Amino acid sequence: MRFLRILVVLSIFASCTTEDDYVPYQVEQVFSDNLEKTIKVDIIYVQPSNKASKVSYGLNETHFIDNLNGSFFHRYGIGLEMGDIKTLNNDELYDLKDNRGQEASVFLQQTQDSYREDRISVYVMKRSNTIAIAGIGKDKRALITDEFLYTSTAPHEIGHALGLHHYHEEGNIMSQIRPYLRKDFTDEQIAVLKETLEKIEN
Ligand SMILES: [Zn+2]
Repeated sequence: MRFLRILVVLSIFASCTTEDDYVPYQVEQVFSDNLEKTIKVDIIYVQPSNKASKVSYGLNETHFIDNLNGSFFHRYGIGLEMGDIKTLNNDELYDLKDNRGQEASVFLQQTQDSYREDRISVYVMKRSNTIAIAGIGKDKRALITDEFLYTSTAPHEIGHALGLHHYHEEGNIMSQIRPYLRKDFTDEQIAVLKETLEKIEN
């Protein structure tokens, strides 16, 4: 098992994009009642262990999930449903800039007891507590820094969390270039996402 875990950690890229993704996405919203697959999404706020230093994120979780559905997922028959809203008090993760170059492995280690195999867990933390990290995604978990919640980083990291790898074509959600153009998944990617959701259901 230990060997497997090391392999998983090594296969992650430290950074998902070559450029910053500061442009909010503007994709026409499409909602559907006819969803093939749905999955619950837990939102987990990363906080320091010292409660006096707690930060406020000011996120409207329902609005965040609705936007992801309308902009990126419903059009493919995939629905994200609001799950639980929680807090993770964890100094190691909260001060991610102390772990430069190790962010992805620190993220996976520090969250292994707080995520559920049958859901997507979105961990929200301060971009200012990282060095140039917009987000990280792997193994049902996505880390999205507060400044990137409403950019294409969010569907990109959720894509990683559900098993997608990077894709070379501009405009694809899993592309690493020109993140402000990202808006589509390919048929193959949708097949992978649905297969992952199918496995989760069973
Ligand atoms: Zn990526």
